[in-house]
Amino acid sequence: MRLTWPVAFPALCAVGCAGEAATPTISADEFATHLEVLASDAYLGRGPGHPGGDMAVEYIRARFEEYGLEAVGGSYLQAVPMVGNTPDASSASLVFEGTRGTTAPTYLDGVVLNPGDREATAVDASAELVFVGYGIDAPEVGWNDFAGVDVRGKYIMILVNDPPAPPEEPSLFGGIAMTYYGRWTYKYEEAARQGALGALIVHETEPAGYPWSVVRTGFAGEQFALPLSAAQPRPAGLIGWVSLYAARAALATAGLDYDVLKAQAARRGFTAVETGITVSGSVVAATRRVDTQNVVGLVRGSERPDEYILLTSHYDHFGVGAPVDGDSIYNGAYDNASGTALILAMARALSDLDPPPARSVLVIATGAEERGLLGAERYVQAPLVPLAQTVAEINFDEANVWGETTDVTVFGEERTELGVYVRERAAELGLTIMPDPNPPVGTYFRSDHFPFARAGVPSLYIVHGWDFVGRPSGWGDSTRTAYTANDYHQPSDEIGPDWNYTGAVQEADLALRIILDLAATDTWPNWLEGQEFKAARDAMRESR
Ligand SMILES: [Zn+2]
Repeated sequence: MRLTWPVAFPALCAVGCAGEAATPTISADEFATHLEVLASDAYLGRGPGHPGGDMAVEYIRARFEEYGLEAVGGSYLQAVPMVGNTPDASSASLVFEGTRGTTAPTYLDGVVLNPGDREATAVDASAELVFVGYGIDAPEVGWNDFAGVDVRGKYIMILVNDPPAPPEEPSLFGGIAMTYYGRWTYKYEEAARQGALGALIVHETEPAGYPWSVVRTGFAGEQFALPLSAAQPRPAGLIGWVSLYAARAALATAGLDYDVLKAQAARRGFTAVETGITVSGSVVAATRRVDTQNVVGLVRGSERPDEYILLTSHYDHFGVGAPVDGDSIYNGAYDNASGTALILAMARALSDLDPPPARSVLVIATGAEERGLLGAERYVQAPLVPLAQTVAEINFDEANVWGETTDVTVFGEERTELGVYVRERAAELGLTIMPDPNPPVGTYFRSDHFPFARAGVPSLYIVHGWDFVGRPSGWGDSTRTAYTANDYHQPSDEIGPDWNYTGAVQEADLALRIILDLAATDTWPNWLEGQEFKAARDAMRESR
């Protein structure tokens, strides 16, 4: 069924049409101003619970106030309580002892460890190692890596990503695309459900989608979680990652071959392997309670103010950490000062509209995304406006800093009725909608739209295109590849000399048109039939 197409403002009427609001737009200059402030060394990488993070919160809050956005419930801030846990590298050790030898990977180079319970200050645990393949229990496709084996009280070794689809089942686990079963967060969640004592994920660059350095940066420093609720299963005592090299050496202590086991794990009917290897792991950690914040501002709708479109982008990054080439500030300029700058400029443009949009727009600069989407998770656990009254959620993570493109990628357009709005406006702007450029890495599960999606709210994650106007074919792909290899989650994610912001303006143009179309209509877009989050949406809409 085609949705009724709502026209917020005639496309050919941008200038001088009496009685029609002009198309709102942002300027490259305002985007640059926000980006340069947030990505500067003075903001210390915007770490949650650190002064740089607090400075970012205040900068965003002050802009919301300046632009006239409303504070919901009297405050622009939503508290995000977290437990912080810092493993002590000098105390951490992991030893594998088999019948043919013993190996102990070097901490940080071959292994990173954390207490699974972020409130634990010391873990010292020895037990047998079970190789559980991909560590997946997916009843809907008849796949259970834990069938016939009891891993309670044991260590499990888990492969990253989900199994490659065999020729006879090309769409199993999403084909080449990663499903949620491939995400490391799922692996630890399943380990908890299975009652494992320890859970070790094997890192491989290609299926993980990032090099070991990203694991090291992300997992060796302070780890955060929302406080455990009584409803959640207790996590494994010790969780961590081992490098591919360390995993090979570990299995070899029992005469086992990693590649052989991995090949077995990719086949239906795989049975987990009790290796006979004893693992002894220990880590001491310092814990603290940390409060960070989401920064939230409301553009109140003029006609249906209690119906909300959410606009999100995370302001946090890794703060100050291990120096690389003498630089210890993880500026996160592209990830994600750029996205924050974009939603700030869009908030300004939306609040300048007269009359305001018919529906409300709630702008949320989320905290602690880099710590596991915690700000977005917190919002979904304690929404400031009802999720059932939330029309859609639109997220940015990494805005365009390399110039105009002929294309755009919009995660979620193919899964939801929001796709109608995206396709119409993209076509109008001459933007070709490209599929996910790298389906195997599971980008869909890795930014702040995902907690909303999992809760049932139709969500879009707009990612700028990679076919740059005036650049040779392939330039965008090589730029992305170089960024991922060299700068992603590294101190070198800084503003580049070749950056320009015409593409950010273009990106905001598309998003503002989609938002205003959604604001003008009175329809409630849903997930498409067969989508895993549709049931949650149907239930919340029925309960209104
Ligand atoms: Zn990001």
